[in-house]
Amino acid sequence: MRRQKTAIFFIVLGISLIAIAFALNIGWIILNLREALMLTIGVLFFTLIITGLILNTIFLVREIRRGEQQDAFLNAVTHELKTPIAAIKLYLDTLRSREVTEEKRREFYDIIDAEAGRLLNIVEQVLIAGRAKTSGKQENLAELDLGAILKNAIGVIESRYNLPAGVIRMLEAADDPKVFGNADELETAFTNLLDNAVKYSGDDRKISVRIRSGLRGGRVEVIIRDNGIGIAPSELKRIFKRFYRSSGQAAKRVKGTGLGLFIVKSVIEKHGGRIFAESRGEGRGTTFFVRLPQA
Ligand code: ADP
Repeated sequence: MRRQKTAIFFIVLGISLIAIAFALNIGWIILNLREALMLTIGVLFFTLIITGLILNTIFLVREIRRGEQQDAFLNAVTHELKTPIAAIKLYLDTLRSREVTEEKRREFYDIIDAEAGRLLNIVEQVLIAGRAKTSGKQENLAELDLGAILKNAIGVIESRYNLPAGVIRMLEAADDPKVFGNADELETAFTNLLDNAVKYSGDDRKISVRIRSGLRGGRVEVIIRDNGIGIAPSELKRIFKRFYRSSGQAAKRVKGTGLGLFIVKSVIEKHGGRIFAESRGEGRGTTFFVRLPQA
């Protein structure tokens, strides 16, 4: 009887101990799980908060940069507008207040005409850039001779900068490729690219324009190459952004608004094309590639 009692006692003790061990074990697991859960939730929220903060900071930095770029743009535009206006005013005053020879008079008229042209060009760029993002319905579409458009653009730039023949060379494709689009817009785009090629090169400029047709996917390519100041690899993509101007010393000396390439990219993309730049680095020239669907 005693042994039985003892046995029962030990069985109960054993069962109790096992039950306690179980409870302890499960409790441990539950507690740890809770902790693990808390930890997981904590890590998750922490990650969310950190991600949010990073995104917020990136956004803020971008906004600040944009603000700075807009200020720079306003300054640049004001300056660009002021210079020709001041010149026009000066020549008009001179013409009014002094006796000038017929030859001088003609020369002054030419200068006033050129300065007015510059003014008009700046205003046009700002207007086009304003329209560029609102990609409404394409108007005045036609089948266009790409070679003719490029020749017009070259003509505009040669007269704008008084370039001697041979500075800009053109290599045409044999088959006279055609593209579908708006002639004025495409001419503006190529004029901007050529204007930059001239602006961002030294005095001994060599600029080439080449058309390659019959590319893969029925595309035609225009390659505009210069031997100018070049572009740093980190800036090759950014230069197409609105208001973006290079921070390089050589580029800063040249006047501009940061709208030119933004307009070019908008026009080319509107025409179903693509544009990108290549440069072997600062001081080593730049090449722009424009690919358009061939009509
Ligand atoms: P802008 O010439 O008015 O500054 P763009 O949009 O035409 O504006 O060009 C943006 C930037 O790209 C320029 O500030 C310049 O630094 C760089 N860039 C454009 N074209 C060339 C080029 N052919 N060679 C070197 N840098 C260029």
